[in-house]
Amino acid sequence: MMKRLYAGDETGSYCTKCRLDLNHVIVAMVRDKIVRVKCKTCGSEHKHRSTDDNSERQTGKTVLPKRKSRKLLTSQSLWENSIAVAKGIEIPYEMAGSYNEGNIIMHNIFGKGVVQKTHFKKCTVIFKDQERVLVSSNTK
Ligand SMILES: [Zn+2]
Repeated sequence: MMKRLYAGDETGSYCTKCRLDLNHVIVAMVRDKIVRVKCKTCGSEHKHRSTDDNSERQTGKTVLPKRKSRKLLTSQSLWENSIAVAKGIEIPYEMAGSYNEGNIIMHNIFGKGVVQKTHFKKCTVIFKDQERVLVSSNTK
C-alpha cells in the first residue's frame, strides 16, 4: 500500500513543459488520486501524469521508428521464408526473362529474390530489404 498523499505533498510526475519526470507539489486531489500538480523545476501547473504510467507518452513521435523497423523485419523474414521454400536454381535476372512464382532470381543490384507474383510484362519479387516490381517478359 502506498503512503497516503495530500495536497501540498511532493510526488513524482511527468512535467509537460520540462518533458521530464520531476518532483512536483500536489495542488489538487480527488479522493486518493492526484489530479493537479505544480512542477518544482519550472513552476508550471498541470494535470498529474504518473511516472510509472507510460501509456500517454507512448503516443506520438516515438511510435514511428518502431513501426518502421517492424516493417523491415517483416519483409526480411518473409524473404527468408520465401528462400527456404523456393525450389530450383538461381536464375540471373534479365528484363527479357520470363519467370514463375517461386523462382529464385539473382538481381545484379538487389541480390537474391523470390518471385511472388507474375503479371503481364512484370513480376513482383521479394528481396531481403523490400518487395520490388521488376520488368519481365511474362505474358500474364
Ligand atoms: Zn517543469
